[in-house]
Amino acid sequence: MIPFKGKFSGIRQYMKGKPHPWGFKVWARTGISGILCDFDVYQGSVQEEKELKKQGRGSFDFRVEQTHNICAVRWYDNRAVTLLSTFDGPQPVDKITRWDKSAKHYVEVSRPSIVKTYNRFMGGIDLLDSFTAKYKFHIRSMRWYLTILWHTIILGVVNAWLQYKRDCKTLQIPEKEVMNRRHFQAQLATSLIQTNTMKRGRPSMDESRAPRAAMARSAPPPDVRRDNVGHLPMKVEKRGRCVHCKDGYTTTACIECDVRLCFNDHNNCFHQFHT
Ligand SMILES: [Zn+2]
Ligand SMILES: [Zn+2]
Repeated sequence: MIPFKGKFSGIRQYMKGKPHPWGFKVWARTGISGILCDFDVYQGSVQEEKELKKQGRGSFDFRVEQTHNICAVRWYDNRAVTLLSTFDGPQPVDKITRWDKSAKHYVEVSRPSIVKTYNRFMGGIDLLDSFTAKYKFHIRSMRWYLTILWHTIILGVVNAWLQYKRDCKTLQIPEKEVMNRRHFQAQLATSLIQTNTMKRGRPSMDESRAPRAAMARSAPPPDVRRDNVGHLPMKVEKRGRCVHCKDGYTTTACIECDVRLCFNDHNNCFHQFHT
């Protein structure tokens, strides 16, 4: 659900009991880790819930789409749930125990196989929702399509971060070196803004003008460092620590990165830093 209370209402939905009942409903398919595989904006659908309700709890109906072999199952528990799958269907049906509020005792309810599979993996969607909710953008009175666009961008960022964490795990990178979501997003933004661009207002070789390197604590992200655009050396007045080897002192700096880097008879940190 993308929270939205604006004027446009063609595809806006109301969902009772949700923290943000008004908004755009989005179908999303995720893995158990919350990585998004596919999504679509909900545009409304037909209802046959009443039919199933008559047949009682545990009743279900299904259709198979022959061309792509997709199975749709609508199952009635205390309300109708519709599930789609390319590999699962209604069979085998097992029994689950549910509390019957009106009769005040436990009852056995039939559960199609697809529902069982869904329950096993549904955590992914909740995980993704919690990630996107945590870093919500706050923009008021936005056009409805911008709301969807921004949400899509956030999804992209969350997905990239989850993928990044997965890669770090595969590469056995120590946990404390793995960026958290905030850091990752900041670095991503820096990369998108600075990669393949040259700094405006190029510092002159004027010795009196120290680069911001004098204060720089962090080097630009690898995407910027390795973009081969505008990384030229300059001399600065004040000697300072090299950001690459961390123990050399130098007056050589990169104009683009605003950091000091050794370039002497023994070390070429300038080269290593940029490759
Ligand atoms: Zn160095
Ligand atoms: Zn540089």
